[in-house]
Amino acid sequence: NTNSTKDKRDIFYRLAKEEGYRARSAYKLIHIDEKFKIFNGVSKAVDLCAAPGSWSQVLAKKLRENCQEMAKTVSVDIQAMAPIPGTIQIQGDITNLSTAKEIISHFEGDKADLVVCDGAPDVTGLHDLDEYIQAQLLLSALNITTYILKLGGTFVAKIFRGRDISLLYSQLKIFFQQVIVTKPRSSRNSSIEAFVVCKVFQPPEGYEPIMYNLLLDNTSKSYFENINNPVNQIIVPFIACGDLSGFDADRNYPLNTPTGSSSYKYSEPTQKPIAPPYQKACELKKTCELAKQENE
Ligand code: SAM
Repeated sequence: NTNSTKDKRDIFYRLAKEEGYRARSAYKLIHIDEKFKIFNGVSKAVDLCAAPGSWSQVLAKKLRENCQEMAKTVSVDIQAMAPIPGTIQIQGDITNLSTAKEIISHFEGDKADLVVCDGAPDVTGLHDLDEYIQAQLLLSALNITTYILKLGGTFVAKIFRGRDISLLYSQLKIFFQQVIVTKPRSSRNSSIEAFVVCKVFQPPEGYEPIMYNLLLDNTSKSYFENINNPVNQIIVPFIACGDLSGFDADRNYPLNTPTGSSSYKYSEPTQKPIAPPYQKACELKKTCELAKQENE
């Protein structure tokens, strides 16, 4: 039967059923921890995009072993999730400020030691689009993480190793001292999925976590209140170059402005366009036929 065929083909799918995990992805988090010890000293953890809940099961178990009654795991997903003992569950969107506020309300004024995100949008099958949406989801996860993670904390998230991956690494490096990408052996080789392990959360000095999303949310009150924070504006370093006291590309200058030659003389362009899109219009204009065609 087809079920036993799948058991034979996928050892982690079979193990998950045997060991009581809701999904085979549990082993990805277990393998990441074996290598990077992400649960060391962790008593408060958040699982973003948690349904059906196998990562939350791992978190609940590991934190219970770490610190018994102090342990607290909060799991979030847009979709409903069956309850997991020892886990607080929130049904919500990770791109919403209200979700971020609800998460930290469970930590009594404190923040999380660890945030994990195995989020994935519905795959369309169009690779470029899937990579783009996955990158957007990772940035949303980073955005909410800057709101709910304590200084020095750890962030683990799924990424697709696509063409623009170095741009994502640079964004993560702005917020974490250490950024490593890893592929657990339980993650299929045929998938471009990998995971970033980001340690020692250290946002730039003056950065305020405000959770606005320019694409979705540019009319919100918090956006306008915080847009003037220079650190939030300059997430990607901006470096001006050239002679900054020289000519200004946006100004008009009188024709006798000294540009090296003493008086103004018109010069032809060094190389005119070979086949400009307006070529036909120029030819018609020369024979006064352009206006005629327009009138017709
Ligand atoms: N780690 C989970 C486990 O081990 O059971 C599996 C997570 S599953 C691959 C990805 C989840 O991301 C889906 O349940 C989906 O609903 C959730 N998701 C996608 N976008 C989301 C968003 N904006 N907010 C909250 N959850 C989201």
